[in-house]
Order: sequence, then structure tokens, then C-alpha cells
Amino acid sequence: MNVPFLDLKSQYQSISEEIETAIRHVLNATAFSGGPFVERFEDQFAAFSQCRHAIGVGSGTEAIWLALMALGIGRGDEVITVPNTFIATVEAISLCGATPVFVDVDERSYTMDPAQLERAITPRTKAIIPVHLYGQMADMDPIMAIANTHGLYVIEDACQAHGAEYRGRRAGSIGNAGCFSFYPGKNLGAYGEAGGVVTHDDELAAKIKMLRDHGQSKKYSHAMIGVNSRMDGLQGAVLGVKLKYLDSWNDGRARNAGLYRRHLAGVDSVVLPEKLDYARHIYHIFAVRVQNREAFMDALKEQGIASGIHYPVPVHLQGAYKFMGKKRGSFPVAEKCADETVSLPMFPELKEEQIEHTADVIKKFIRRSPGGR
Ligand SMILES: *Cc1c(COP(=O)(O)O)cnc(C)c1O
Repeated sequence: MNVPFLDLKSQYQSISEEIETAIRHVLNATAFSGGPFVERFEDQFAAFSQCRHAIGVGSGTEAIWLALMALGIGRGDEVITVPNTFIATVEAISLCGATPVFVDVDERSYTMDPAQLERAITPRTKAIIPVHLYGQMADMDPIMAIANTHGLYVIEDACQAHGAEYRGRRAGSIGNAGCFSFYPGKNLGAYGEAGGVVTHDDELAAKIKMLRDHGQSKKYSHAMIGVNSRMDGLQGAVLGVKLKYLDSWNDGRARNAGLYRRHLAGVDSVVLPEKLDYARHIYHIFAVRVQNREAFMDALKEQGIASGIHYPVPVHLQGAYKFMGKKRGSFPVAEKCADETVSLPMFPELKEEQIEHTADVIKKFIRRSPGGR
């Protein structure tokens, strides 16, 4: 049985008529860059995220970069984040001229460990970027308390967390700003590149709108130096259609996570993801941990099951960040996760028999190599 990692085609086919109508409207209106289709999606996504504003931009990377710029963060400033993230989180800090500082993660949630946060704060620290990894939010109450004590901004990297919740509050609605990616493979994916920033702050929203459009609020009157990070009209229209289905798609992912848990119950050498009490987990990635990852992934592949690694090398050990001088051993939990983590197939349309087949292959593999070794 074939089990793909992700199946964008079956999702497209389930909504193809609506999508094609929406695309035709954009073509007829020739509203290709920004414009009414983007504005409509922004209103819908702000409501979905329990925020006053949403600003459509070019990508998730640019969403974080623009949020940092709009908060006035730049050269000489430090921004704290985690090393076990997609590199874009850290690139955004570097792109605005600031210095990234890492804090290790909690081994249960794989998100920023609030107990280690305060130690990383210096007089230069300006902001904290917790990453809501795999679709589960970081422990926001203690992070916000520390940020408030030290007068720091909090930018949520919610690029994997569209619709995730922390004690009933949606991802992006707790910090000063929340940043989203609409890369095609994310839980809410465009048909191309796109991103968004959400915030309650009127002034911040106005600034990000200017920065995404060359620092202008009136045509050819440039009050600040910005970039071109406008969202495409076609992406706004596609995202507007898909947003209506996002909650039910996220529920589908949660159902599939429950099926994995049921079919893998008692397999002790495979560490399943933990859903913390505070969380609505939206399972962007269903990551398990094993000791002998290579053999484990080979066994899956032999039986037609795709898998992935998110992420094999933590950012502090990437060539691009070698200059920071952080050696192996600097962030032991992030490094352990990078060595052991395997992402199993996860998407709303995944069928129970595919999950059962995957679990059977895993159980056979573990029986052959007990202790996962
Ligand atoms: C996808 C992702 C990004 C970057 O988003 P792009 O749209 O690809 O630029 C940033 N942070 C995290 C955690 C992501 O998963």
C-alpha cells in the first residue's frame, strides 16, 4: 500500500470548482497584486485568528522579517528564539540586522523552554520569537510574563500553527504579532508563495502595510524604506476559499493523530508527540522519535510509506550560522530531537487503512529490532 507524506492533489480535487471560480474572478478583475481579493482574505483571516488585523505578505519568512522591522528591531539588538526550527525564523532576525540568541526547547512540547528563557536575556534583548512547532503552541503564559517583566516584544512564529490554540486563544493572538506561512504544504497553503502577519495593534498593522509596499501609504510618497512583499491577488482568492475548510481539515488531522496513537499504543521505543493540556494541536507534522532512524525510515520506505525529518540539523549547527561559534552540546534537547525525530505521513485525507498499515510496519520493525536498535 502506498502512503504519501502529503497529498495536495486530493485536497485540490475536493474543492476544484470553487477554486477555479475564484481564480476566474481574479483574472476578470485583473487584480493581481494586492487588491480586493487580498483584502477580503485579510479580513477573514484576522477573524479566524481572533485579531483586529491581518496583513497579507509574500511569504512566512517575510512576515517575520517585516514584523521585526516594524517593531524597530535592527543592528545591535538581540532577538531570542529556538534552534530547532526551520531556518527562516532565524534568517528573519539576521535580515533585519539583529543578532539571534538561542534558548533550548522542552523535551515534551519541542517548543521554547520558558525555564531557560530568562538566562538568555541581556540589556540588548528586544524581542522573543517562540516557534509553535509541528502545530502545537509554545507555553505562552510564562513566556509573556517574562517578556512583560523585561519590556520585550513577542512575535509568534505561527507558520506551522494556523488555528492552533493555547487555553482557547488562537495562535498569533497572544504576542505583539503572529506570523504565518501559506506555503503550499502548510495546513493553510496557497497555490504558490504567500504569508501573513496578524496583530491587535493598529499602529503596528499600519507600519507593516507600508513596509510590505516600499514604505508608502500613498502612491509614490515613501515615508520609510520598505520592500516589495505584497500578496498576489490569486493567492488571496485561493486562501479565501480554503480558509472556510481549515477548521475541519485541522480536525481531520487530529482524528488521524488519534488513530496513530491507537494503533501504536504500547510501542514503547517509539516516542509519540505529546498533546499538552493547554493545547489545540493542529498536527502540521506528526513527529515521532526513534533511536535508529535510518533503519526505521528504510523499513517504512520498503513498504511504500513516505517519511521526513523536521529538521535534521538544528540552526546553530548549520553552516550559515557557524559564525555564532555554537558547538554540538550547546542545546542538548534540540540536538537530540534533530537526531531522533521522524515525521510520519499526516494530512486530513489520510485514510485509516493507511495509518494502520504504517503502524503495522512500525510494529514489525520494532519486533525485529527490539528497543529500536
Ligand atoms: C514554513 C516556515 C517558515 C517560513 O515560511 P515561508 O513561507 O516558507 O517563507 C518560518 N518558520 C517556520 C517554523 C516554518 O515552518
